[in-house]
Amino acid sequence: MVKSESSKKTGVGIFGGTFNPIHLGHLIIAENSREKLNLKKIIFVPSCYPPHKKTPEIGASHRYQMAKLAISPNPYFVLSAIEVKRKNKSYTIDTIRALKKLYSKEKNFYFILGLDAYLAINTWKDIEKLAGLVKFVVVKRPGYQGDTSCQVATSSVQSGLLAMTPKFKNVKFLDLGPIGISSTEIRKRIKEKKSVRYLLPKNVMDYIFQHHLYE
Ligand code: ATP
Repeated sequence: MVKSESSKKTGVGIFGGTFNPIHLGHLIIAENSREKLNLKKIIFVPSCYPPHKKTPEIGASHRYQMAKLAISPNPYFVLSAIEVKRKNKSYTIDTIRALKKLYSKEKNFYFILGLDAYLAINTWKDIEKLAGLVKFVVVKRPGYQGDTSCQVATSSVQSGLLAMTPKFKNVKFLDLGPIGISSTEIRKRIKEKKSVRYLLPKNVMDYIFQHHLYE
């Protein structure tokens, strides 16, 4: 019997972020991870108060709405309000535990993150426990180089970070080619009244201008 396409798919991807705002880089990463790892779906989890970043000036509800608009055309993408509702610091370990309860039938959870975030992973709450709950999917990012197997880095700061990064076995490094988009750059361009076309979905761009965000 030929198995149906969906029955061959294993596991779900979890993609957390500030998404301030969500951009095409995020969507490219999520779709490629889904396809390369043959995942059933990708759960986007916008954070409320990210523990390792300054609290965004744009509230969680706007960031959540923008993520909702961005993922709407993709049937494999879902949005979770779990961190937005929590209204306190969003520790990944707590989020993963809650998502594992919600998706109790799933066996494999893949946590997707950029190399910049991965290089700081030793500062995350209960990182060893988290590594027991998920597999990490680490996406290369321009300006950041290195992986824990070959130990190369572009700067001494990054070498230091890499040296401190735990050598987990359950890490898959994905090189999707350079994706030179960041939320920081988008916020800066809007402030400077420059174009942000083609950096983020049109419906998200329209939402930003309608609500006068980042001006
Ligand atoms: P900011 O510029 O405000 O720091 P960001 O563009 O990094 O934001 P986040 O919402 O913080 O966006 O990112 C969520 C996740 O996506 C993080 O793990 C981050 O490393 C990853 N990510 C975002 N943009 C890229 C990119 N261009 N290449 C690789 N990873 C990325």
